[in-house]
Amino acid sequence: MHVRRRLTVAVATTALTLAGALVGAAPAGATADREPDAALTTDVRTPTPPVLSGATTARTRAGLPTSRRAARPLFAFWGQKYNRIDGFPYQTGVRGSGTSIQLGVAWKTYRGVRPILPRKVFVQARIDGGSWAKVSGARGRIGKRGYVLAQVPAHVVPAGVAAQTVDYRLKTKKITSGPRKARRSVTSKPVSVRFENQAMYTGDQARFYAPIANLCPNASVTLDTDHTIAEKREAVFSFQYGIAIDVEEINAVTDESEASKLAVAIHECAHWRQFYNWGGTLKGYRAMEKRSGEIFVADANPNGPTPPNASDWAPLEHAADCATFLVTSGAERTYGGYCNPTENAAAGLLWQGQRY
Ligand SMILES: [Zn+2]
Repeated sequence: MHVRRRLTVAVATTALTLAGALVGAAPAGATADREPDAALTTDVRTPTPPVLSGATTARTRAGLPTSRRAARPLFAFWGQKYNRIDGFPYQTGVRGSGTSIQLGVAWKTYRGVRPILPRKVFVQARIDGGSWAKVSGARGRIGKRGYVLAQVPAHVVPAGVAAQTVDYRLKTKKITSGPRKARRSVTSKPVSVRFENQAMYTGDQARFYAPIANLCPNASVTLDTDHTIAEKREAVFSFQYGIAIDVEEINAVTDESEASKLAVAIHECAHWRQFYNWGGTLKGYRAMEKRSGEIFVADANPNGPTPPNASDWAPLEHAADCATFLVTSGAERTYGGYCNPTENAAAGLLWQGQRY
């Protein structure tokens, strides 16, 4: 009895040491919490979850077979700060009703040792702090690169409700064979998404949603009242907050038509399409950005004057501008340039929900 207790303490101490090592080994997470108008800085570095090496080292030192001395490591999730929404290192976000998200949770591994993997990983959700419930039709896929990814079905906010906050997490199916300690189910820390019911928008949210209601019905409009999302721009498509509008910046221009002001929302809606038509993930976004460079070029109008390109002109910005010109007139806040027929045809696909 006495011996057993001492053994228990020894194991607990080892666990504590390991836990301490985990914290120390944690890498700095990527911090790209917005896109400057969906442009340019797409260098969102992927946070790589730490790789544990302790088990391998211990086993080597012991010089005994794995099965005898060091059990294969158990499957577990890393902490909340490695959780991702749509491939981005965010644990919170704002989305419009009817939007799907991709949940990413880092899982732990040991270098050189094949862990005991759960056979299934489920997605759970809770609405406004309620009870956790399994999300049907969603399944986590355990990736080799340290992340479990799950595409979560779209959440629709009920009629008459302005917004709901939905937390999502992963839960593993209980392992039923192997070492006794492996026979367990683990749950991840959650991400939290605020879904807004566009039909309940009032004021400036309704004002800027109206022109995009048919083009991007599932988009959300966030008012950037403290200039922290769009910063120096009048609007931005933010991967974390969706379409963000700095109303003060837009209203500041008095000699501009309301149609031109609203065209800003349409331009951001085109970015929303660029994101969601390509799957709504960072991976798809990068593919879209590359594809944009193949189609959208800085050419001049062969038949007349061409507005000069802005210093931050980029193919995907030009695509958003061309898409905007197709559905509005008098858009004044643009990146300049000329939309040739090929570009117009490609930009038009955005409004069809298709990729160019
Ligand atoms: Zn833009």
